[in-house]
Amino acid sequence: MRVIIAGGGIVGLTAGIAFKAIGWDVLVCEQASEIRAAGAAIGLWRNALDVFGAVGVGDAIASIGTTVETWFYDASGQPFRAPGFDPVDHTFLLVPRPELNRRLAAAVGVDNIHVDTRVVAFNEHADHVSVTFDDGSVERADLLLGADGAYSAVRAQLIPGYPAQAHAGHHVWRGMLAAGDEPAAGSVLTVGHQRARGGFTRTYGNQVVWMVNQFDSAAPAGTKKAEALQRAALLNDAGWNDALLALIERTPEAQILHNPIMFVPPLPCWTSSRVALIGDAAHALSPHISAGGTLGVEDIQVLTDALQRHDDLATALQAYERNRLPHYARVRELAYSVEIAPDAAGYALEYARFSHWMLNDGYRASRQ
Ligand SMILES: Cc1cc2nc3c(=O)[nH]c(=O)nc-3n(C[C@H](O)[C@H](O)[C@H](O)COP(=O)(O)OP(=O)(O)OC[C@H]3O[C@@H](n4cnc5c(N)ncnc54)[C@H](O)[C@@H]3O)c2cc1C
Repeated sequence: MRVIIAGGGIVGLTAGIAFKAIGWDVLVCEQASEIRAAGAAIGLWRNALDVFGAVGVGDAIASIGTTVETWFYDASGQPFRAPGFDPVDHTFLLVPRPELNRRLAAAVGVDNIHVDTRVVAFNEHADHVSVTFDDGSVERADLLLGADGAYSAVRAQLIPGYPAQAHAGHHVWRGMLAAGDEPAAGSVLTVGHQRARGGFTRTYGNQVVWMVNQFDSAAPAGTKKAEALQRAALLNDAGWNDALLALIERTPEAQILHNPIMFVPPLPCWTSSRVALIGDAAHALSPHISAGGTLGVEDIQVLTDALQRHDDLATALQAYERNRLPHYARVRELAYSVEIAPDAAGYALEYARFSHWMLNDGYRASRQ
């Protein structure tokens, strides 16, 4: 069996490794000229780490990770934990994105990855799917996976009318730089005034990552640094987060990332008889739950389990879709409760509800 995977991000690459592990021929097609990753670092939860372990890259990922035990703080530095939840509900592995994708690509193998190769269309037939690339060439496979992110071309053809939408007024600024004398445990996650949030923490290679975001933000008009500093000031009563402001000051403008946040609206389906969406292509979420990538990696396990349980490809894809649609309906409900939490204590509570569900009931349901 052969799969063509559109997209060489965290999900497409991990899918490549997982499909190789179940004996498929794999071709990952990435539109960019190299495998790289936008963004500084990504927090990976146990669900994703289990998948990496199962497909043989657990140690390679663990060795570049820093365990982060999240506390929530208000703007004055008062720490919060939701009562009744375990430390594990607050713990993830922080991994630098470029190194993560390099390691995943190495496990997929250079021969199985085509860069500078953009999927533009597909045609389904009874016994194969043909995939057309931007240079006009065509390849055949048994299955096409759309792992091509929020602006997925595969989704646009499979389910027309569901483009990525702006999460209106939601902006994020991020940076990564060499660590200095700021506290290593940082201030993740400070829930400040005017719906601003953010903090910083140490990561692999003696680097420190920082992030600030704001819901209902005015449209940014200044430099990325000035805009990030404005949000950080909303997290800094009496100088509790001075180190965050100093880090932002110290980050060169060109190294600051700014994203207006996009999401994919709920889709009526994710599959046809030979095509399936996976990762952000199917469910790009607002990143305030820091779990979209983790959940995308979890999708891979659900899909490969279904393929191993059902001989018929279309039946397996339907089983995958039946598992994932209600799962993401619940993810969206819980994520929305986090988003609208009125203060730091409420945010801590709703976040713990989400992460506890994701790591327990949600995870179990993904493996049935
Ligand atoms: C600010 C921010 C913070 C986040 N923090 C976290 C976190 O801490 N933890 C977490 O789990 N998640 C987090 N997320 C979410 C996470 O980044 C995404 O869910 C994840 O990157 C999705 O991976 P993906 O492989 O599905 O898509 P992408 O990473 O978008 O990769 C898609 C790839 O497909 C390629 N491509 C696109 N179109 C085509 C085409 N037509 N043909 C070929 N290639 C194509 C792209 O070039 C890209 O390489 C965060 C997101 C944001 C914005």
